[in-house]
Amino acid sequence: DLGSSLRGTLDTLRGKSRISEEDVEEVVKEIQRSLLQADVDVSLVMDLSDRIKERSLDEEPPKGTTARDHVLRIVYEELVDLVGESTDIPLEEQTILLAGLQGSGKTTSAAKMAWWFSKKGLRPAVIQTDTFRPGAYDQAKEMCRRAEVEFYGDPDCDDPVQIAREGLEATSDAEVHIVDTAGRHALEDDLISEIEEIDRTVDPDRSLLVLDAAIGQGAKDQASQFDESIGIDGVVITKLDGTAKGGGALTAVDQTDSSIGFLGTGEEVKDIERFEPESFISRLLGMGDLKQLTERVERAMEETGDEEDDWDPEDMLKGEFTLKDMQKQLEAMNNMGPLDQIMDMIPGMGGGIKDQLPDDAMDVTQDRMRRFEIIMDSMTEKEMENPRGVGQTQVERIARGSGCAEEEVRELLQQHKMMERTLKQFQGGMDGDMQRMMKK
Ligand code: GDP
Ligand code: MG
Repeated sequence: DLGSSLRGTLDTLRGKSRISEEDVEEVVKEIQRSLLQADVDVSLVMDLSDRIKERSLDEEPPKGTTARDHVLRIVYEELVDLVGESTDIPLEEQTILLAGLQGSGKTTSAAKMAWWFSKKGLRPAVIQTDTFRPGAYDQAKEMCRRAEVEFYGDPDCDDPVQIAREGLEATSDAEVHIVDTAGRHALEDDLISEIEEIDRTVDPDRSLLVLDAAIGQGAKDQASQFDESIGIDGVVITKLDGTAKGGGALTAVDQTDSSIGFLGTGEEVKDIERFEPESFISRLLGMGDLKQLTERVERAMEETGDEEDDWDPEDMLKGEFTLKDMQKQLEAMNNMGPLDQIMDMIPGMGGGIKDQLPDDAMDVTQDRMRRFEIIMDSMTEKEMENPRGVGQTQVERIARGSGCAEEEVRELLQQHKMMERTLKQFQGGMDGDMQRMMKK
């Protein structure tokens, strides 16, 4: 995917301390490709590109940082700026009005948000005012049953404003009122005047625009019209479990000068997430968890106190894997946390591949690590480089020298084999771009 080629480009900067205009140009090109593919508006992408170029060349990299880290940090900061912070949703009494076109996911999101508030200890109620779509009442009621939250609707009434008013009264014990509205296939005048009237009646604390992740530049008109009529405070992006990355919604955010509040990631009521800039960026770019990864790498480097040792989890995937590498990595892992968590942060290594591995492959406890280190201290340079050449005589010698059992020495060699195999498997499981990048 695109994220891995961006990563590849960043990696070519790793050895450099100064960055050229060409280098920046290359990085920016990759980012542009990813963002445009994710439906982010061209002008937003161009603004971002300009700022990244300018800052990368103008700003002096802080002492001790490589060109790669410098650019990575600027790219990250600018992306955070692009997607914005999460909409402020205080955990207190409030009324939320949902707006959006038909099928965008309003009713589903209403139930999901109610579920979310109930998990936060607040008592929510959903009020369904859609009298337009046949079955809207039943659908909302069923979703709220599944979310185990209070629901109000009136299948016999065809006045949405009346339902809204009566709904607020009927659910006055609830702390959070979520008012679901009707949508249309397009923005029609009657839809706008209806939602304006509901807006006046319920006087919401915040109005959220619900957008399908697949929305492209159509987001612009919708956002500005709803913003004009009721004022949009935040955006909910739904269906992020599909292939769409939701970049079009950024246009709506830009247009309404608002932010993103929630993400819908499935059809069930629990499939809702608060928006977080970091993970959304990772999703947009198709990379693993960018921020977490860079932070961890930096921290691990600091703690090993070895500046030249530019160890990166991705290095595990490249070339030969010797016992020396294993020793370095065990050391660094000590500072980084469990290997399987690190694996999760590397793009292209989702749970799928991990699940196929033997349990032991990831199980290197601190205790075992310490024993391994003692054993490795008794091994020769040659044995470290070529652990497969270590035979029974050497095992005996190493065991004597380290004061460990022969069994433990064999365990170490076994562990090395397993890790090596694991990494090979990962390489096999990765997509084309990533593989190509690794071979560079
Ligand atoms: P509304 O017309 O705006 O109220 O939209 P609905 O809530 O009825 O949703 C329209 C369709 O999209 C329904 O089939 C939902 O199950 C589906 N849907 C809503 N949110 C999500 C989501 O986050 N993921 C997936 N996969 N489907 C969703
Ligand atoms: Mg609906």
